[in-house]
Amino acid sequence: MKFKFACVVLVISIFLVSCAAPVTRNIQIDNRAMRIEEQKQMEIALLSLIKNERRLDSVAYSLFAGAASMCGNKTRFVSGIQAANIYLFHEDMRPAAKRLYGMGDHPGVLYVSRNSPAEKSGIQIGDLILSINGKPVPAGKSAVTDFGAMFNKVSRHSGKVKIRARRKGKNLTFVLRPEKACDYGYGVVNHDMVNAFADGKNIFVTVGMMRFVDDDNELALVVSHELAHNVMEHMSKKRRNSMFGSIFDVIAGGYGVNTGGLFGNIGANVYSKEFEAEADYVGLYVMAQSGQKIDQAPYFWRRMAAANPGGIKTNHSASHPATPQRFLALEKTVHEVERKKKLGRPLKPEMKKNH
Ligand SMILES: [Zn+2]
Repeated sequence: MKFKFACVVLVISIFLVSCAAPVTRNIQIDNRAMRIEEQKQMEIALLSLIKNERRLDSVAYSLFAGAASMCGNKTRFVSGIQAANIYLFHEDMRPAAKRLYGMGDHPGVLYVSRNSPAEKSGIQIGDLILSINGKPVPAGKSAVTDFGAMFNKVSRHSGKVKIRARRKGKNLTFVLRPEKACDYGYGVVNHDMVNAFADGKNIFVTVGMMRFVDDDNELALVVSHELAHNVMEHMSKKRRNSMFGSIFDVIAGGYGVNTGGLFGNIGANVYSKEFEAEADYVGLYVMAQSGQKIDQAPYFWRRMAAANPGGIKTNHSASHPATPQRFLALEKTVHEVERKKKLGRPLKPEMKKNH
């Protein structure tokens, strides 16, 4: 009897063991290899983040510069040098930023914007920025912001700016002719949803949206729509209208900051239908002023609506109405802009009589 009981227990325990764990041999990994693997993954994550930031910049830079005349006094001088130092990266990503891009205390060139004064001057990725018109550029936590402010200040007084930079142990001088651009920031948000936002100070495009757009012209349509929200001051008007507190205010800047949870909580209809219509309208003028083609705009927004049914609250078409009115208005705007181009008229949005 005792023997029988033992057998049953044995059978049950074998059954449990075989269900609870894999039966093949474990592969042993040592801690050092594990740490190296972690770093490898961090490098891949950082490379893809910077790839997206560069792609957004290659589209946004020229739109922000092209629309400068529409931004009134909200403009600043830009060079097209996208500077960074180690403090701009999330702590976890700093070792990878050091290894991949040589990031340290001092601001260096992370990338150069397409068709910018910096590109024309010959300054390159990896160059360490030493001084602007003889004034040393500081190192440390606020160095990148300080560099932007210094460049803007110097540019206001002079049509040419001299930048000293170090490349492979040699000091070089570059002469740049600064240009004006709308004074807003832009960045990629590491989130899969297909969306983009404007908070009055910046515009944000999600990784999901970057994947959704077929080409740079479609990305430019998204960026110019969001820029138009800022140009027309929709966020401050909305606050005035509804006392809606901005969740965007708490968004942290920098690379590798996880804003996923925050963006996930954003409901539909951040802006009213009227503001959306205005962003569509003004956005196409932003495109046209920057020399971008706009004929694909109605098709793109239709494609957006078809791919993302409005029932899903956090997608772009839910916060951007998919009404027939919207697409017909877009088509009319395309015709209006094309007509002005043909007649050589200024590419300015038509304002209501009392504005
Ligand atoms: Zn919008």
